[in-house]
Amino acid sequence: MSLSIAIIGSGPAGFYTADALTSACPDCRVDFIERLPTPFGLIRGGVAPDHQTTKRVTKKYENTAMMEQVNFYGNVEIGRDLSLDELRTMYDAVVLAIGAPADKKLTIPGADKIGVHGSAAFVGWYNGHPDFRDLEPDLNTNAAVVIGNGNVAIDVARVLLRSPDGMADSDLPDHVASRIHAAPITDVHVVGRRGPADAKFTNVELREMGNLNMTHPCVKADQLPDDLDTVLAGYAERDRRLRARNIETLREFAALENQGKPKKVHFEFFATPVEIMGGERVEAIRFERTTVEDGKCLGSGQFFDIECGLVIPSIGYRSEPLAGAPFDDKQGIIPNDNGRIAPGLYAVGWIKRGPSGVISSNRPDGNIVAEYIAEDITADPKRTGRDRLEAVLKERHVRWVDYADWKKLEAMEIENAAGKAPRKKFVTVDDMIHALDGFPN
Ligand SMILES: Cc1cc2nc3c(=O)[nH]c(=O)nc-3n(C[C@H](O)[C@H](O)[C@H](O)COP(=O)(O)OP(=O)(O)OC[C@H]3O[C@@H](n4cnc5c(N)ncnc54)[C@H](O)[C@@H]3O)c2cc1C
Repeated sequence: MSLSIAIIGSGPAGFYTADALTSACPDCRVDFIERLPTPFGLIRGGVAPDHQTTKRVTKKYENTAMMEQVNFYGNVEIGRDLSLDELRTMYDAVVLAIGAPADKKLTIPGADKIGVHGSAAFVGWYNGHPDFRDLEPDLNTNAAVVIGNGNVAIDVARVLLRSPDGMADSDLPDHVASRIHAAPITDVHVVGRRGPADAKFTNVELREMGNLNMTHPCVKADQLPDDLDTVLAGYAERDRRLRARNIETLREFAALENQGKPKKVHFEFFATPVEIMGGERVEAIRFERTTVEDGKCLGSGQFFDIECGLVIPSIGYRSEPLAGAPFDDKQGIIPNDNGRIAPGLYAVGWIKRGPSGVISSNRPDGNIVAEYIAEDITADPKRTGRDRLEAVLKERHVRWVDYADWKKLEAMEIENAAGKAPRKKFVTVDDMIHALDGFPN
């Protein structure tokens, strides 16, 4: 019998693992178990809708998904339809590739007011993730504040500010586009606790903010460092170059005259949020000025407020515990030894390492775990894998979505797209299942 391996989660980490496994062990059987009817994790639900080139990486994943020995069981959630313990009795090895879907919470007074949405939820909403279909953020405000200095913060600011023309070839869902494009938002403040040298934007994303046709980028020249060597001293050479490039871009923004663009993105550094103010709803946010000394970020005792009706904390993601696997609540990951969790149980991607890095950063995780599985599972394979899985899913009346079903959904999404949009996404699981099976009478 050939080795049966289940990968829970079909984001980049899951796909790189499947790719490595099928190369290392051509006769093993690899099954994806994915809670959504759609594959690709954050490539579909996180990467910005106007960054379609980035999303094209899924074409490579597709080659893996179409392999004879690989099956896809979408719309099957471990912890809801089947437990992890049950799955482990069916497969010789189980790989957790379940990502880090939750927001790190902003813990300041007022963070629970209406109008505060963590970036995981907000990005999920504008990307048509079914979990966030009903978020319905109130965008009836002139100003929004995005807290954080990473690429997700930039994505959020750009999606809020970009013109309908600029989004024409995106897959922004209709219910989202109509809200964002009707919103009176003219100013988005992207605020970082530390200085520009510490911002984690990649330069391509930052520069894009200078090329939007309706939005002028604002930077305070006095927040930019005069002496790069000092502020970048703690960083490795490659990092230093990337950060120097960001500072150069910010300097260009600071010198740029507004050519009559009606909207503004304000990059504000050295400010930590201390309170969200207002009644039930957000009306303003108070920041404390900071300084960075010897690498430490210190409060200065000076405060200022930004009036706004929308706050998007973009301060990081965390994983959620899965029954049957250990969990390190402090770090928000499953404790593991470079991917090994327990005999026959492995972790890859953000659930293994935490939420950092780009798509390709997940590839080495897959390679390592494929090697471990080859090393660890030495006894004769004994699990029945997909035969048992399918029998149990049928017993429980779980309507799983296989890869052929997903291709049908994808074809409908492409067919339904209007204008230059690449697809019109299905945004609820019910709509997807009904589209496949017909609507119930
Ligand atoms: C908003 C955002 C934008 C990003 N943009 C970029 C970008 O432009 N370029 C770039 O290089 N990187 C980008 N990244 C980073 C990149 O998306 C991640 O590195 C990558 O997606 C992590 O892969 P993963 O497989 O660990 O997790 P995920 O991609 O999150 O995949 C996890 C999968 O597991 C499934 N799952 C979870 N729990 C269960 C369960 N119990 N049962 C079954 N299935 C389950 C989920 O539905 C999901 O499909 C972005 C990240 C975010 C958050």
